[in-house]
Amino acid sequence: MRVHAAAASDEISRSYVRCAPEHGVLHRVVREQLLTFLWKLDQRHDECGVPLFVKREFQRFVRCGVLAHGFARFWCAGCGTDRLVAFSCKGRGFCPSCGGRRMTERAAHLIDHVLPRAPVRQWVLSFPFALRYRLAWDHKLCRAVLAVYTRALLGFYRQRAKGPGPPEGRTGTVTVIQRFGGALNLNVHFHTLAVDGVFVREPDGSLSFTAAKAPTDDEVEALLGVIQKRVLRLLVRRGLLCEEGGESLDETEAPPLHALYAASVRQRVAMGRRGGATVLRLGDAPTTTPEPRRRRQARLSGFDLHANTSVRAKNRPKLERLCRYLLRPPVAEDRLSFASDGRVIVRLKTPWRDGTSHIALEPQELLEKLAALIPRPYVNLIVYHGVLAPNARWRGEVVGFGTRSKTPKGPASSASRKVAGPCNRTWAELMRRGLEIDVLQCPDCGGRMRFVAAIMLSSAIRRILDLLDLPSDPVELAPARAPPELDDAWAC
Ligand SMILES: [Zn+2]
Ligand SMILES: [Zn+2]
Repeated sequence: MRVHAAAASDEISRSYVRCAPEHGVLHRVVREQLLTFLWKLDQRHDECGVPLFVKREFQRFVRCGVLAHGFARFWCAGCGTDRLVAFSCKGRGFCPSCGGRRMTERAAHLIDHVLPRAPVRQWVLSFPFALRYRLAWDHKLCRAVLAVYTRALLGFYRQRAKGPGPPEGRTGTVTVIQRFGGALNLNVHFHTLAVDGVFVREPDGSLSFTAAKAPTDDEVEALLGVIQKRVLRLLVRRGLLCEEGGESLDETEAPPLHALYAASVRQRVAMGRRGGATVLRLGDAPTTTPEPRRRRQARLSGFDLHANTSVRAKNRPKLERLCRYLLRPPVAEDRLSFASDGRVIVRLKTPWRDGTSHIALEPQELLEKLAALIPRPYVNLIVYHGVLAPNARWRGEVVGFGTRSKTPKGPASSASRKVAGPCNRTWAELMRRGLEIDVLQCPDCGGRMRFVAAIMLSSAIRRILDLLDLPSDPVELAPARAPPELDDAWAC
C-alpha cells in the first residue's frame, strides 16, 4: 500500500496544512512548558484556578495535526494510494493551522455570501491602552463600543450622501474584532469593511447604489472626534471611567487572566524572573522620529482611526485577500525561531518605528502571551451592521447586488435574508481556494481520492501507523517543573 501522510507530503506542506507540527517551535514550547505554566498560574490563584477554556485550548493544540491522535483516511481507487490526514484542534486562539483554515473559510464566506459587488473601504479603529485591556476582558463592553462606533460610521455615510443626492441612503459594515497586535500582544481593535457608498430604494422598487467619495483627512478626524466622544460617554454611563482614565481594577486580587491581559496589553511580562519588565526587543538602533500621520488617519488621545485602504467593486480577488488579512491568525509558525539560549524569537511582520524588528520571549513568556489571546468560548468576533446585519430588510438584495442574476425587486423574502453560515465547504475546496492546492488529487496518478474512514481508536491508530512506519506515539507533555525564579514569580 502506498501512503501519503498529509502531514508529511511536500505537496501540501505549505503554510496551513502543517507539516509534522510536533517539530514546530510553537508546538515544542507548548509541549515542554504547558504543565509548568498552568502549575504556576494555579499556585498563584488556587482559589479560582486557570479557566477551563484556556487549559482546553492548549491541550487540544498539542494534539492538532498529529497522526498519532487520530486521522481520516483517503484512498485513490485508480492506483490504490492512501492519504492520511490528521485531525485538527479547531482552536480559536493561536493555532496557526486551524486559524489559517478558518481564515480561508470565513474570507470565502464574506466574498460569496455577504459583501455585495460594490466598492469597499477598510476602517481600522484602535484604542488607548487602558481601554484595550477592558475590551479584552469584557466582551459585552466591547460589543457596546463597537455598536457606538459603527452607528457613527453608518451615520457618516448617510450624512455625506445627503444634499442633492439620495435622501435615504443606507450602507452596511462587517467588523472583525481582532484581539492581537503584531508582537503577540493583546490589542483589541476593530477592522471594519464598509460598503463604500449608499444603497437607495428607487421609486420603481429597485435598489440603486451611489459610491461615496473618498473621505478627506479632515473628515476622518472629525469622525474620530465623534466616535471618541461617544465612547467616553458610554464609559462614563457605565461607571468605568475613573478620574485619571486609568484602570481601576486591582490586579493582585484579580483572577489569573487579568494579570496576563494587563501585562500583554502593555508589552510586559507577567510572571517569573522578568515579571513586570517589558518584553525584550531586538532590532536596529532606535529612531526618534515620531511616526508621521498617514493619509486618512486621525489620532486623538490614544484613539486612532485609519481609512486609507479601499477596494474597487470589480476587484474581488483583492477584496478576498483583504478579508483574509482581517481574519488571519495571530501567529505564523515561520515567524518563530529559537535563539541559542532557548528563548523564542518572534519576527515582527512590520518593524516598529523604534527600530524593533524582533522580540525575544522566554518560553514561559510566550505561553503568557498565547493565553491572553484565547477568546472566551462562544464570543462572536465577526459582527455585521447596517444593511448587512442578519435581520436587515434589504440584506438579501444588497448581498446579491451587482451579480449577474437580476437583483430582485422589493423586500427580500425571509429565506433570502437568512445569513448563510460558513457553508458546507469541504476541506479540499478550501485548500484549493486558499492555497491553490488540491488535497483530493492523488499524488501518484492524479485521480480523485475518496474518504474511507476516520480512525480514532488508539489501538487502530497505532496499528496502522506502525504498519506504515510512521510515528505512532501520542504527544506527551513534559511534567511541571518548579522554576528557580518561583520566589519572585508575579513580580508585577
Ligand atoms: Zn489546530
Ligand atoms: Zn492514484
